[in-house]
Amino acid sequence: MRGETLRESDMPRISYVNGRYVAHRDASVHIEDRGFQFGDGVYEVCEISRGFIVDMTRHLDRLDRSLTELSIAWPMTRKALTVVIREVIRRNRVVDGLVYVQVTRGVASRDFVFPRSDLQPSLVVIARNVDVAAVAKKVENGLKVITVPENRWDRVDIKSTGLLPNVLAKQKAKEAGCQEAWFVDADGKVKEGGSSNAWIVTKDGVLVTRPADHGILRGITRTTLFDVAAKLGYKIEERGFSVAEAKAAREVFLSSATTIAMPIVEIDGQPVANGHPGTITLSLRQAFFDIAEKSPA
Ligand code: PMP
Repeated sequence: MRGETLRESDMPRISYVNGRYVAHRDASVHIEDRGFQFGDGVYEVCEISRGFIVDMTRHLDRLDRSLTELSIAWPMTRKALTVVIREVIRRNRVVDGLVYVQVTRGVASRDFVFPRSDLQPSLVVIARNVDVAAVAKKVENGLKVITVPENRWDRVDIKSTGLLPNVLAKQKAKEAGCQEAWFVDADGKVKEGGSSNAWIVTKDGVLVTRPADHGILRGITRTTLFDVAAKLGYKIEERGFSVAEAKAAREVFLSSATTIAMPIVEIDGQPVANGHPGTITLSLRQAFFDIAEKSPA
């Protein structure tokens, strides 16, 4: 999870903005960029681990879906985008970290309706290292979550940059001494976190996560964890689970590209099981890198 101050060595140095590699501190978009004015854009975050881009194919497939759903054109070919991604990673000497890709509908005089259809979409790519030791510490301690009522729109399956409810929920979590907020639907079932998917492990060792047809983002890490679970011989049930069921579960964890499978040890101030990270969660985390797709950065 982010939110902490970056170490100097983790600060991006060079970023890509609309055709140019620029010093990160000077990197900027136009004031009439629709991403800036309306949140009219989409994004992806890929993990970089041991010099490899993890699950890039699935991330770019989801980017394609998000763009299609919003009728935003690709800013360049998929092949060219992979070249830019690699170049930004290289220029920032990222070995363990993340790469962020954002595409917006582009720059146009402010008007709610779509501008002309041949508008050039904006593209931003940022890469940076993460503090591996700090992540290891989080895994060791586990995370704490709060629950909040779902207040987002019904197209959260699109990875849009319109993230204000997520911002407010995660800020509330931080103020409660927690690292993630779970959105809970009107039936009391957990949807997902502000920037992660939610999982529990039942007493019988079955992994449970909400179906991703609608109402949540189909996390790439979530999808790859299905492959990992199959390899390790764990059963997965795709169904909703209540906050009460999560509090009584054997293990609880979240998944996202930057956290993989991360143990949750407390929900709304109540410890999960013995209050320590669960062994199944840790085994999924351990096996993840070997099973995920790895593209040389
Ligand atoms: N749900 C939400 C709302 C997210 O923002 C994220 C992280 N981008 C996820 C789930 C996890 O998705 P992924 O595994 O692709 O990072």
